[in-house]
Amino acid sequence: MKKVKEQLSDDVCHDLLFLHAILGCDTTSRVHGIGKAAALKKYANSLHFREQAKVFNSPSTVDDIVVAGENALVSLYGGKPGEKLDGMRYQRYCEKLATNSSQIQPQNLPPTSAAARHHSLRVYLQVKQWKGENEGMSLEDYGWKVTEGQVLPRMSDLPASPESLLQMIRCNCSSDCASARCTCRKHGLECSPACGQCRGTACTNSPIQFDEDDSQDE
Ligand SMILES: [Zn+2]
Ligand SMILES: [Zn+2]
Repeated sequence: MKKVKEQLSDDVCHDLLFLHAILGCDTTSRVHGIGKAAALKKYANSLHFREQAKVFNSPSTVDDIVVAGENALVSLYGGKPGEKLDGMRYQRYCEKLATNSSQIQPQNLPPTSAAARHHSLRVYLQVKQWKGENEGMSLEDYGWKVTEGQVLPRMSDLPASPESLLQMIRCNCSSDCASARCTCRKHGLECSPACGQCRGTACTNSPIQFDEDDSQDE
């Protein structure tokens, strides 16, 4: 242990708990696709990253923890100081959309800022627990919720997708979508390619096709 400690340097040893917890341990989520060695490397090469680590090793407010956690994750994902997770996530999504031939796997994108918030708070709490400094800290203030005696991680404060997508209307009619039982028709919408059976082309509620052009010659 002594030899390892000497090899790592005092600074790394000082922030090792944070480096371990930010990328995933028993109580914090694993950050997909980023290994523990990446955090050590980042720590050695980036002053900005080291400054974020400090916040997790001293008494800090929730706001400071959330900002430092996001900065640290941006850094681990290869972003520059000042970048934000949501912006990076969108950018990566667009890059993948333009270059990937297969489906985009959400776990390969950086987390949302809203999800990172709770992750950072759990990391802070875990570091405090390991150091025996967690007295008076409530689980529910640091990324956890207690439901029916079970302790569960808080994932995000945002819905899984924008409301308009969650409310997206499509039907699954096996007939010709002519009756009011067709949910598309009921809401005054044309059927679309998202519909289960008619696919927005094979029913009476599909967008009008250009079939009737020949009505001009009398
Ligand atoms: Zn229908
Ligand atoms: Zn239809």
